[in-house]
Amino acid sequence: MSKRNDCRLCGSNKVVCFLNLSNMPRAGAYLKKEDLEKPEISYPLDIYFCENCYSIQLLDIIPRETLFDDYRYLSSVASNSVLEHFEMYANEIDNLLTKKSDLVLEIACNDGILLKPIKEKGINCLGVDPASNIVSVAKEKGLNVINDFFGEKIAEKILNEYGSAEIIVANAVFAHVDDMDDMTSGISKILSNSGTFIFEVHHLVDIIEDMQYDSFYHEHFSYHSILTLSKFLKKYNMEICNVKKISIRGGMIRVYAKKFNNNKIDSSVIEFMNQEQKLGLDKLETFQKFAKEVNEHKLEILNLLKKLKSEGKKIVAYGMSGRGNTLLNYWKVGTEIIDYGIDASPERYDRYVPGMHIPIKSPKNSLLGVDYALLLAWIFKDDIIKKENDFIKNGGKFIIPMPKPHLEP
Ligand SMILES: [Zn+2]
Repeated sequence: MSKRNDCRLCGSNKVVCFLNLSNMPRAGAYLKKEDLEKPEISYPLDIYFCENCYSIQLLDIIPRETLFDDYRYLSSVASNSVLEHFEMYANEIDNLLTKKSDLVLEIACNDGILLKPIKEKGINCLGVDPASNIVSVAKEKGLNVINDFFGEKIAEKILNEYGSAEIIVANAVFAHVDDMDDMTSGISKILSNSGTFIFEVHHLVDIIEDMQYDSFYHEHFSYHSILTLSKFLKKYNMEICNVKKISIRGGMIRVYAKKFNNNKIDSSVIEFMNQEQKLGLDKLETFQKFAKEVNEHKLEILNLLKKLKSEGKKIVAYGMSGRGNTLLNYWKVGTEIIDYGIDASPERYDRYVPGMHIPIKSPKNSLLGVDYALLLAWIFKDDIIKKENDFIKNGGKFIIPMPKPHLEP
């Protein structure tokens, strides 16, 4: 692994660590049974604030080849509300285009959760994704996907072969990229002068307001606000023209940027910046206070889990994503408290949580005889509680960890 000593967005070395979530294996490194006896590699999970551009980021970098080659996250293994979200997203893109032959490029298209509905509308589209196992899934769906990391080099190739793009989409991508300069300069190269670059990122406001420190993990290098993004995009001749709040995955924003070209700027851009400033996202003290609250939150959830366990209750975990793995490793909660984890993604069955070695099972019959399910996938709370109605009818309760630990129903 390597360590940066400068800010990934602005290059300043005025970067200060405000939160240390302890050393832990990377959140996506699920173990097979035969791996359990082997030593695991742990990495620091330290979060930094840049005093120059106010961005929040990790500076300890695990090489991207290690992170993404066998990426165990299939977007389409998602709840209905997420699928619906992408269906509507595809409609919006369709409406933005003047003709179907205009190129739509999606960076990190995963298994095609968005690209598929776009293609079904007859739109000329292309995807790029670095994970070879996931690209095969997308190709099986008949999608045109290049298996590579997106950057200047691949941008050049696409431009020669397909021409410029009217729309470039990048969902949850900016968080995952160490070399944001290479990616953004590639985007600026392909985007037509009238084109729109649309991307979704977690909004730093939600992370701070809802105690979402589980969105800090090694695979997420940066955490964004409009304040920092607008400065950053300027470097590549782009400006933010509109921002929309998206309610999925614990609160995201969808940002619309265009090349400088007398664009009409929606009032949302200023509104978001004002909100961020009001919350103090441009001040180190805000994040130092947040770090203190994170520590208190940890003690609170540990007290609750230990109390229930001492009463002889059977506790399992529900939704074993990277976010949940961060929490379990930071809390140091393993099989002494959690019997097993439950996850809907078949790729995770019969695997173990990195670091804490909790076994993962499919949801089928796994809640029988369980008293409490720790809902690590709390961002999908409404869907999951609806789906596991039988568990609740039988007297089961969910432990919702965020923003404040509590039981439901
Ligand atoms: Zn910076």
